[in-house]
Amino acid sequence: MKNIFGMTLETMQEEFAALPLEKYRAKQVTEWLYKKYAKHFSDMTNLPKTLRAELSMKYRIDVPSLRTRLDATDGRTSKFLLAFSDGAAVEAVLMRQPYGNSICISTQVGCSMGCSFCASTLHGLARDLTPGEMLAEVLFIEELLEKEDEKIDTMVLMGSGEPLMNYANVVHFLHLLHEEYVMNMSYRNITLSTSGIVPAMNRLASEGMPITLSISLHAPREELRSKLMPINRKYPLADVVAAGKSYAEKTGRRITYEYILIRDVNDSEREAKDLAELLKGQLASVNLIPINPVKERGFERPSAESTASFCRILTHHHITATVRREMGSDIQAACGQLRNRHISENQRGPDQFILKHCNRL
Ligand code: SAH
Repeated sequence: MKNIFGMTLETMQEEFAALPLEKYRAKQVTEWLYKKYAKHFSDMTNLPKTLRAELSMKYRIDVPSLRTRLDATDGRTSKFLLAFSDGAAVEAVLMRQPYGNSICISTQVGCSMGCSFCASTLHGLARDLTPGEMLAEVLFIEELLEKEDEKIDTMVLMGSGEPLMNYANVVHFLHLLHEEYVMNMSYRNITLSTSGIVPAMNRLASEGMPITLSISLHAPREELRSKLMPINRKYPLADVVAAGKSYAEKTGRRITYEYILIRDVNDSEREAKDLAELLKGQLASVNLIPINPVKERGFERPSAESTASFCRILTHHHITATVRREMGSDIQAACGQLRNRHISENQRGPDQFILKHCNRL
């Protein structure tokens, strides 16, 4: 049986034409799926009963089920572990910010990038998410918010996975979100975060989708970056920054460089100066993120003073920089963490869950 959730209106119209069904039926079904969160054809009450039965024989509606929900004591951050029909589970996070509701979405189950500080990559890549599965993460949260008379305002692709390693599905998903019959979400309210897949960054610049590109930099020199992020051996820092520059020139969108601060690894005055030199004159800003410690690797957070001083050096060199506010750390609101616990509990028992990691909030 074919999955209908995540189909575009056009595809559905083609499918229905072959049945044959009137064209307007596809519009009705997209409305039920994407605006009214129907989980079964039997909910679609403006379709004749026989049609509902016919459709349910031909299609399934693949939406994930909630495995775990964690609400932070700050009252503003909630994290959801969502499981798909094959048992694969990913995390999605809702952050109620002063400027609106922001969500963080996963693009892959696990990750193949192998960054040394990140928990999402710990078990490698399980599989890519489909456009429908990513959309389901978003609509799961939108349905919740709608009950509170709220809605999603902005979205970041900073959950588990490397979005540009799942390029076609991610772009398809963003097109879907932008459709009027889905969420009508403006591309300007979307941020995609990448570890620096250069050819895909260049391709993205030509999609005509003015989304914000966020680049995980974490080091201002090649050898240091290669130590932290193995992908740097394939796509070196110099090429990543050049691709960022060209993305900004093509789209007119400011690049956000993410820089995790790790005590005694990349947080010295020298790195701050090198970083300022690297980004000089670019349409870019730096988001400093004190690391969520990874004990096994001895990665620790710098002190508040040294974080502030790193930030000051950048500002002094005319680089716009901010320190990311922490939200939901008591619920391990970083994508990857909850899934790892879920894997550990299934495989080895809960006491094996010791990793602390990605704070991307
Ligand atoms: N693969 C993409 C998107 C997912 S990671 C990317 O690399 O950008 C999203 C962000 O969380 C990245 O900037 C990543 O470096 C950061 N992150 C991963 N582990 C972290 C940790 N332990 N503490 C703080 N941020 C972390």
